[in-house]
Amino acid sequence: STFQDLGLNNDLLQAITDLGFTKPSEVQDKAIPILLNSETDLVALAQTGTGKTAAFGFPMLQKIDVDSRTTQGLILSPTRELCLQITNEMKLYGKYCKGLNVVAVYGGASITDQAREIKRGAQIIVATPGRMKDMISRRLVDISKIEYAVLDEADEMLNMGFKEDITDILSHTPKDKSTWLFSATMPKEVASIAKNFMYKPEEITV
Ligand code: AMP
Repeated sequence: STFQDLGLNNDLLQAITDLGFTKPSEVQDKAIPILLNSETDLVALAQTGTGKTAAFGFPMLQKIDVDSRTTQGLILSPTRELCLQITNEMKLYGKYCKGLNVVAVYGGASITDQAREIKRGAQIIVATPGRMKDMISRRLVDISKIEYAVLDEADEMLNMGFKEDITDILSHTPKDKSTWLFSATMPKEVASIAKNFMYKPEEITV
């Protein structure tokens, strides 16, 4: 199939053309129609390098309201490097989504600067769990209106000991959001997150 067949809008198709992506990767082929056409939860078993960032990024970019400054999408990732990488990709994918603000939140950098960026109105926040929890407890960020939460590299986040931070963060989000979990492996800790925080997720494997 083509990106157009998957139902992506012209703003995204134009960015995809600029990036030189000629056809959807397998995880994109499987995830994008599900995420665009329903409000379901999703568990996706996919390694890095498979194009998974776009698999959740394109649908999130298409579904959020860029005319609103409310934070609608939250992407949690295990490391600062990955957080910055996802933020950059989301900005590239959303370059024609006028009014879009994607903000990266991670440790080891100024929390004041990050809070200031968020205050300007970030529809999407890409965060590492520790700093995100910190910002929530200091009331520097409001995720009470989140519609889409992504747990990227969930197995890595749990390996790194972020289970409690993730649980705390999710407790500040609405019950009726959609949760999209991506993981390279499915150890019982990841299955337990899916069981406790997700409702009848669709499952895909690539
Ligand atoms: P990821 O697995 O999300 O880290 O993506 C791996 C790399 O593949 C990134 O550099 C993406 O920009 C690139 N990429 C993602 N989707 C496609 C695609 N459909 N065609 C070509 N490259 C892609």
